[in-house]
Amino acid sequence: MSSTLLTAEIPDQLDERKHSQRPKKIGFVSLGCPKNLVDSEVMMGLLKQAGAELTSNAEEADVIVVNTCSFIDCAKRESVDTILEMARLKAQGRARKLVVAGCLVERYRDEIQKNIPEVDAVIGTGELARILAATDLAGTNSPHKNLQEQRSPFVILPSRPEAEARWAQGRFSRTTWDGASSELPTYLYNETTPRMLTTPKYCAYIKIAEGCDHPCSFCIIPQLRGKFRSRAMASVMAEAERLVCSGVREITLVGQDTTCYGEDLGLEDGLAFLLKQLAAITDLQWIRFLYAYPNKITPRLLETIAKYENICSYIDVPLQHASPSILRRMKRGGGAEVFLRSIERMRRIIPNLVLRTSFIVGFPGESEPEFEQLCDFVRHAEFDWMGTFAYSDEEGAAAYSLDGKLPAAEIGRRRKELLRVQRQVSRKKKKALVGKKFRLLLEGPSLETALLLEGRTEMHAPDIDGKVFINDVPEGRSIVAGEFFDARITAAHDYDLIAEIL
Ligand code: SF4
Repeated sequence: MSSTLLTAEIPDQLDERKHSQRPKKIGFVSLGCPKNLVDSEVMMGLLKQAGAELTSNAEEADVIVVNTCSFIDCAKRESVDTILEMARLKAQGRARKLVVAGCLVERYRDEIQKNIPEVDAVIGTGELARILAATDLAGTNSPHKNLQEQRSPFVILPSRPEAEARWAQGRFSRTTWDGASSELPTYLYNETTPRMLTTPKYCAYIKIAEGCDHPCSFCIIPQLRGKFRSRAMASVMAEAERLVCSGVREITLVGQDTTCYGEDLGLEDGLAFLLKQLAAITDLQWIRFLYAYPNKITPRLLETIAKYENICSYIDVPLQHASPSILRRMKRGGGAEVFLRSIERMRRIIPNLVLRTSFIVGFPGESEPEFEQLCDFVRHAEFDWMGTFAYSDEEGAAAYSLDGKLPAAEIGRRRKELLRVQRQVSRKKKKALVGKKFRLLLEGPSLETALLLEGRTEMHAPDIDGKVFINDVPEGRSIVAGEFFDARITAAHDYDLIAEIL
């Protein structure tokens, strides 16, 4: 997560406005996950189409937009700090407007407006097209002039039975939130929505679905993002084909739960079917999806990953815990035994599978033996990559009212301990890669030292996993960022690898 302003290449002749004003300059900060980044790219695309110019220099921006994250405590703090930092810039500099968008708005709409008077407009996750009105660009030639017009081409599908059942159980209720509208976001972009990519020109995210119907008791994403809804497959395909035509070689599919893709469209194994279609796109070298739900990984999905060379042998499945009793209280189900069986099946069907997961430590009532069970599970499962979050109390989440809250210091200790366990697993796994050959996507000079280049293999999803540093390139070989090379791993650290280009 970073609070630097996003930049993107801006084509020359976009401003078809009749008047001769200089284009409005917009500074954009995007916080949080790739799903939020896609929302930022859609808002930037709408602004660009309306004739605005994006700037990476906050000092010269007429309008500053902060797209916030509200996932856990530290993400909220980062969002608020960034808004305050941009409010200071607005007070001292040229900016006339400060706009706040994203999850924090869905959760704290009134509080932001009441407590930070420098904020001129707020935009929820379902109101992306309001960015034009908020920046005084509504009424330009954009076909997405306001929310009403923007909504019309978007097909809002009826939600699935799970959503209706959860609705009846109060899963989507926001009534305890101060100032929150009771209307859930229903927005979902499509292939005709303008979008300005901020990722390197060879890779892009595609959001295939939005919202979530799962009942996880620690999570308020369903209240923030609404019921689960999938984009039409034709829309995803059209966007993917256009991206590949423009030079994209790696596509990462995102959504709160990608493995439910298509259920609301009446598709069985929708994600597997979508992956198969994407795999047929010539020149698309790597396809992967993030955020699988454990019991939605079907044999057909695994077989599809195994069958197509350009579908990365990579699964990111956040398991959240391994103790059956904790998972029950998390309202997720499963446990170490079930998970180990399912991991064994995944590895059997997909040779060389790379597995990523994440866990929450310090969930209310987590006893020492339950935590130990999680550590043992991590030792046995041998994940390639693992993220760990300290439990954070979210008002409005079912876990908020559970007894047995643990002191922050104890949660911190357990988090450190789990990371220590995984460091040992990772060291062993990375060491076993030394001497092996991989296709490597070169990303350019290393951000850590100018003496090295940096790249990724199919084991590394953009931005979240470790890195591959390249310290040896054959003499006279021209090396261009965004190109694929054959490489050999020559050394391994706990998480990062060193490679030579062959
Ligand atoms: S599946 Fe993910 S987004 Fe959905 S409720 Fe559970 S944790 Fe939240």
